[in-house]
Parts: sequence; structure tokens; C-alpha cells
Amino acid sequence: MIEGISKRLDRLIWPEPNSGCWLWSGSLRPDGYGMVNVRRPNGTYMRTGAHRYVWQMVHGPIPQNGPGHLGWCVCHRCDNPACVNPDHLFLGSHADNYADMRNKGRHATGSKITANRRSVKGSKNSQAKLTEADVVEMRRRFAVGEKTRVLALEFDVPQTYVCCIVAGRCWRHAGGPIRIALKNPKQEMLPL
Ligand SMILES: [Zn+2]
Repeated sequence: MIEGISKRLDRLIWPEPNSGCWLWSGSLRPDGYGMVNVRRPNGTYMRTGAHRYVWQMVHGPIPQNGPGHLGWCVCHRCDNPACVNPDHLFLGSHADNYADMRNKGRHATGSKITANRRSVKGSKNSQAKLTEADVVEMRRRFAVGEKTRVLALEFDVPQTYVCCIVAGRCWRHAGGPIRIALKNPKQEMLPL
């Protein structure tokens, strides 16, 4: 179990050994953000981003008065919307979030995340379930129309991991065709 995270939540988090990302294996929005139902004090439920929820479990409530009229945004250093690793999340303005997306790919050449990565990549890492060849095969099959759900069952890994692989957000070094994911940063503006 991951320290500081409830058992219920822990079951929905799948640590990805190469990137250090904690992939959300619960429900995902079409743009890749994990979603969670949160109980309000009055007993009703609301849906919110899983990354926002985890950030608050670690750091407490997101401050009310954020920059601009949109408030604070929980941003990803790792450019992986399904990731809920608190070390990969930071509180920023929506402008920071846009800037991050514009600079997409910069972390491959030297950000905090690269420094935190394990030194042994891919199948040489004892925790890795897949080999580079599996990853390339998965990407090829996805590129010709196979569904991530089917690939997840066959390779016995969570669907969220398959999405991460085919989008090139993890296993970057393995090669194979990578889907260029279109992101709509506006969808991240959900109030909490
Ligand atoms: Zn991450």
C-alpha cells in the first residue's frame, strides 16, 4: 500500500516502473484524466479529477483564491494526465498548465522527473512486466485499430497502462508507432 493513500484508492493506483507515474486504473475522461466520485459534506457526490483528489489528500484543500478567475490548477510535471503521483503534481495557474503543455517533451531532456527516474529502464527493471518487444507489438496493433481494452486483457496490464504506452507517455525508448494525443486543456478547468 502506498503511504498516506487510503486502501480504496490504493487499489486504483498502478505504479508504472519506468516513469515513476502512478497510473489511475479507475474511470478516465476521454482526454486521459482519471476521475473519482467524492462525497460532499451534505452527503451528495461529485465527480472530480483523480489527480486533484490525490493532491488534496497529501497537501490539504486547494487554496480558494488562486491566480485569475479560474483558481488554482493541479498540473502534471510528467505530461501524463492519468498520473496521480503527488511527486509529479504541482499547484499552478492555468497559464502554467498551458505553458507546460506547450513545452511538452522538455522533461525528456532534464526535468525533476528525469532525475527521479530509476536508472534501469524497460525490461531490465525487475518490476517491468512487459518487454520492449511487447510494447512495440502493442503499439503496432493499436495503430491498426485494436482496442486498448483488448490489448490490456491480452498483455494482462491495466487499460490505463496500455493508453500510456500507445500515447508514448511511458516506454519512450522502446520505439514503435506512437499516437499523437490531442489534448483539450480547457477540460482541465473543472472546479473542485
Ligand atoms: Zn507522472
